[in-house]
Amino acid sequence: MWGAWSFDELISCCRKPFDGNADAKRKGREGGREGGLPLVYRCRLISAVLNMEGVVVFIVAFSCLVGSLQASSGDADPHYKSCVEKCETTGCVGDRCFQHCRFSSDGVVDGPWYMQEPLYLQWKKWDCRCDCQYHCMLEREKERERLGQGPRKYNGKWPFKRVFGIQEPISVALSVFNLAMQFHGWLSFIVLLYYKLPLRPQTRKTYYEFTGLWLIYGFLSMNSWFWSAVFHSQYIDLTEKLDYSSAVALLGYSLILAILRTFNVRGEAARVMVAAPLIAFVTTHILYLNFYKLDYGLNMKVCLIMGIAQILLWALWAGLTHHPKRFKLWAVVIGGGLATLLEIYDFPPYKGYIDAHALWHAATVIPTYLWWSFIKDDAELRTSNLIKKAM
Ligand SMILES: [Zn+2]
Repeated sequence: MWGAWSFDELISCCRKPFDGNADAKRKGREGGREGGLPLVYRCRLISAVLNMEGVVVFIVAFSCLVGSLQASSGDADPHYKSCVEKCETTGCVGDRCFQHCRFSSDGVVDGPWYMQEPLYLQWKKWDCRCDCQYHCMLEREKERERLGQGPRKYNGKWPFKRVFGIQEPISVALSVFNLAMQFHGWLSFIVLLYYKLPLRPQTRKTYYEFTGLWLIYGFLSMNSWFWSAVFHSQYIDLTEKLDYSSAVALLGYSLILAILRTFNVRGEAARVMVAAPLIAFVTTHILYLNFYKLDYGLNMKVCLIMGIAQILLWALWAGLTHHPKRFKLWAVVIGGGLATLLEIYDFPPYKGYIDAHALWHAATVIPTYLWWSFIKDDAELRTSNLIKKAM
């Protein structure tokens, strides 16, 4: 899969503002985002909300439709554009010059043979462009601040200040924290099931029939947060696609899990019958996004349908079965819904670091804890019921 990524694709993030096609493509992407939440985040938003099952995706759906206060695109600004163009030829923005922009007039960099390799040159150009864009953005934003104007988005992203080359340090840290919370939930689930609760005497397997499914769920959640952290630290097409793909995979899987648990599907054959078409669909969708077209609008619809379906399933199931811990589940839903408001009122980063999306990442931590707690309660309850039955 990795081999299929061309270098051009890899560097295209930084080429967007200067490339007509890429620009049109970006506009297409932004079409669905106009005046709303950045599309880049929407599917990931939904999936992560669902990831913790803090699922008021209706609100997310609403957010996609509502035209909210959104800054205009900073990369269309002529001052910014000319700054980047100038920087790419001179290698400097103001007094600051970038090592990666040192090319001689014929395009060949000074230095030994290996530094003249096409790949190395491409990489240098990419780095140069990224540095130019970043520093031109900072310059432009300083200028706008002096004029009393508010911040604007560049390439669909707010102007964040980098820390050690990390583009959104707070979101990265919070993604890692969420990953840790998922790991904690996953591990405590294993400890509960295999070390605290009794095992079936003959097979030494857990009484709870959904153990394996929740273990895979934990793994996919951690995978999703990992790629979220990578994407927030470096936005390139590759990290974006990996982040999207892992979010879609998690969302698709959690739908399968929701169906299997709420309908209490226990037989292998029945499980396969439920899972196979959904796995086929999600796999095709991921392949389509990665190798044919990263269609944000389509992806949004797919995520919404899968999201809404599982919210309804969990909410109805908890209510209808009078699950004793249903309040935890509903708290997660409400908490997730409130957190989602942060994404709707997407505001620019405070001091260049903390934006609404970062706060939203912070807000997912407690629902994640509650969600795993609900899963463990469910396992405990089901185990005790099965043991009572067996006696
Ligand atoms: Zn994020």
